[in-house]
Parts: sequence; structure tokens; C-alpha cells
Amino acid sequence: MKRLLHATHFAAEKHSNQRRKNTAAAPYINHPIEVALHLATVGNVTNEDWLAAAVLHDTIEDTDTSREEIAGLFGETVASLVCECTDDKSLPKAERKRLQVVNAAGKSVGAKLIKIADKSCNLRSMLADPPKGWSTSRQLQYFVWAREVIRGMLGHNQALDEEAQRILAEGISRLSHEE
Ligand code: ZN
Repeated sequence: MKRLLHATHFAAEKHSNQRRKNTAAAPYINHPIEVALHLATVGNVTNEDWLAAAVLHDTIEDTDTSREEIAGLFGETVASLVCECTDDKSLPKAERKRLQVVNAAGKSVGAKLIKIADKSCNLRSMLADPPKGWSTSRQLQYFVWAREVIRGMLGHNQALDEEAQRILAEGISRLSHEE
């Protein structure tokens, strides 16, 4: 419990000057907190390493946080889960997206659940308040890509799987009618 709150505080400090890309430009930390909450409420996840890694999942990718820093504060398991959720930002965006699809099935169970929750939360936000300047067809393409990533990670938590598939189906149907 203490470690999870510490991780939440750490992530809040690291993301403190970042905003979400939606029109509301919400504080970035809302997103990792929502991902951890989704794991706990929808997926009934109680594993503290997984919840702490969910709160920290974007710190290495999007802030100056290093793997060593996370390992030192929160342990090796959390650090390795966060690394599994981190794209290599030295690669072009299209390649990073392709690798997410290719690598999805090989991830550890904890990383798969965090990534499914991450995608579900992003897709849900996109339907409620799309990123500024994103056309309907760009949103639809994002949903279709996310479906490919999610496909490789299913089979470990039925409630998380069903919620992800429900959001995907709703979004793809709504966006293809709007297109
Ligand atoms: Zn995320």
C-alpha cells in the first residue's frame, strides 16, 4: 500500500508539467492513475507490483526517469514491468506501432494486463474527447491498430478482455458510421 502511494506520488512529480492531448488538456497523471484504477476495479487485480507498474508505466517513455531509478525505489519486478510497457523512442513512430503488435504476445502476464488496461483507457478517452485535430478516420485507424495489439495479449483476465473488446466494438462501429 505504502509503495503504491509512493509510486503514485513519484509518477505525479515526474509527469507534473505534462498534459493529455485531448481538448480538455487534462493533467497527464490522470491517465496512469486511471489505468491502475481500471486494473483494480474492472480486472480485480490486487498484485501491488502490477498496480505500481501501472501507475509508473509511462515514466520511462515520457519523462527523464531511468530503469535504475525505478528499480532502486520500487524493485526489479516493477522496473522490468515498466520497461515492458516502454516503446523505444529512438525508432520512428510507425516502427514503434508495428513492434507493439509484434511484441504483444511475448510479454509477461503483468505487462499484458497493464497494456490492455492502458489501451482500454486510451480508447475510452478517445471516444469521450478525441485528441485535438484527429479526424474520424485517424481515430478509426487507431482503434484498428489497438485491436491488433490487444489481440496478442488476451486470455489472462476475462473481465479486462471483455471490457477491452466491448470498447473496441463500440468505437469501431461508431467511428465507421461517422466516417
Ligand atoms: Zn499509457
